Amino acid sequence: MATGTMWSPSSWTSKPAVQSVEYPDQKHLDSVLAKITTLPPLVTPAEIERLRYQLSAVQRNEAFLLHAGDCAESFDACTQENISAKIGLILSFSLILIWGARLPVVRIGRIAGQYAKPRSSQTEKIGDTQVLSFRGDNVNGLDPNDRTPDPERLLRAYFHSSATLNYVRGLLTSGFASLHHPRDWSLSHVRSRSLRRKYERITEGLADALDFSHTIGVDSGRESVPFERGGDRGVLGEVDFYTSHEGLMLGYEQAMTREFPLVGGDVDAAGPEKPKAGFYNSSAHFLWIGDRTRQLDGAHVEYFRGIRNPIGIKVGPSLGNEELVELLQTVNPGKEPGRITLITRYGASKIRDHLPGHIQAVRGSGHPVAWVCDPMHGNTLTSASGLKTRNFSTIISELTSCISVHSECHSRLGGVSLEFTGELNEEGFSVTECLGGSMELSEDQLELRYQSFCDPRLNFEQSLDLAFLISNYFKE
Ligand code: PEP
Ligand code: MN
Repeated sequence: MATGTMWSPSSWTSKPAVQSVEYPDQKHLDSVLAKITTLPPLVTPAEIERLRYQLSAVQRNEAFLLHAGDCAESFDACTQENISAKIGLILSFSLILIWGARLPVVRIGRIAGQYAKPRSSQTEKIGDTQVLSFRGDNVNGLDPNDRTPDPERLLRAYFHSSATLNYVRGLLTSGFASLHHPRDWSLSHVRSRSLRRKYERITEGLADALDFSHTIGVDSGRESVPFERGGDRGVLGEVDFYTSHEGLMLGYEQAMTREFPLVGGDVDAAGPEKPKAGFYNSSAHFLWIGDRTRQLDGAHVEYFRGIRNPIGIKVGPSLGNEELVELLQTVNPGKEPGRITLITRYGASKIRDHLPGHIQAVRGSGHPVAWVCDPMHGNTLTSASGLKTRNFSTIISELTSCISVHSECHSRLGGVSLEFTGELNEEGFSVTECLGGSMELSEDQLELRYQSFCDPRLNFEQSLDLAFLISNYFKE
């Protein structure tokens, strides 16, 4: 096992890397990675440490985590409209959660770098031809004639990430967050009258609370984050907002890994023998290891164990209890709070077989973790017309089982990890990728506005449905 051996940003190269990409020209790849190594960090150590601190609050049940965004971003979707729609939905969703759970919400977007995708097969059949699978915009093109991996795409990914992040920072420092008031939310999509009434009660309550705080002068244009440290300015503007992606392309992650002095309390806490510097992945605040790349002796786990960033680990049905504990021991031997978030994704019909054992094993090991439910990835199906989709009711089923199992096991759900989008088409209509929800989207409507080139996402209306349901759950 990796523990105990010397770590460096490149030590992963001596381990087997699943999902690795074969580039036709190694020299070209090396020169691109050398260039990326010289480019400035996208996020700072202080921001990363602040997120670690806030995730330790999630672990203590003092805050709730919302991790959400696209399955994969694309270079073409890096537009003003798309980015503001994504941030708008995350802000609206979190406002509903704060209202219901009466807890601060830590927001992490799958944004500004979520380009690479793991694939179950190296090749796929398109028409009559077998071509390399699409691996995400930072590797190859969706167009079947553009499937040869091109290193220049890694550089383009860096610049698209930086343009996205720059616009997000701009939005959040110029009052965008305060525009997301519940009276702007139309609930006309809700087909059932009783459900609409239920939602209206929440939005009316929220509007009242916001009016009241405005009247007594406590709204000051930004929300307070009671568990923060290091000043009261939010990360990326008036509210805290963090970025994340799956740490799949290890060459890129290594190029973005930089050594910085430890900041704030960690320097104070460090005794004479403790390190005063750490390696930060400066491409995102939070990175996660996918369900397909979490092998104990693999390259991904080796890379992840050495960085200071808080990390997520996707936990699916094939992970055994002991293996989970070994994994935690490898990536967080010091049992440091705030560092590990377990994102469970079993599938609605399997969660009861696996989650209780995982909870008990982790508790027995004494490892601090935040438990987050991803009700999306274990519940993907193919529609009769061949489209990859998910059913809103199955998503709700995994989420409600997850909440119940946690409470039966005297544990608590700390957050949700979702694939959703606020994106609208030119006529102002939402995407149609997942079935059901209060708009009762049917199979024959999927083709209307199916825009995802990867996994199906909940649209704006379906996402708010989910937010209202979670919010109601916490209130009741
Ligand atoms: C994802 O989050 O898009 C993903 C591929 O998840 P998983 O690794 O859990 O399948
Ligand atoms: Mn996905």
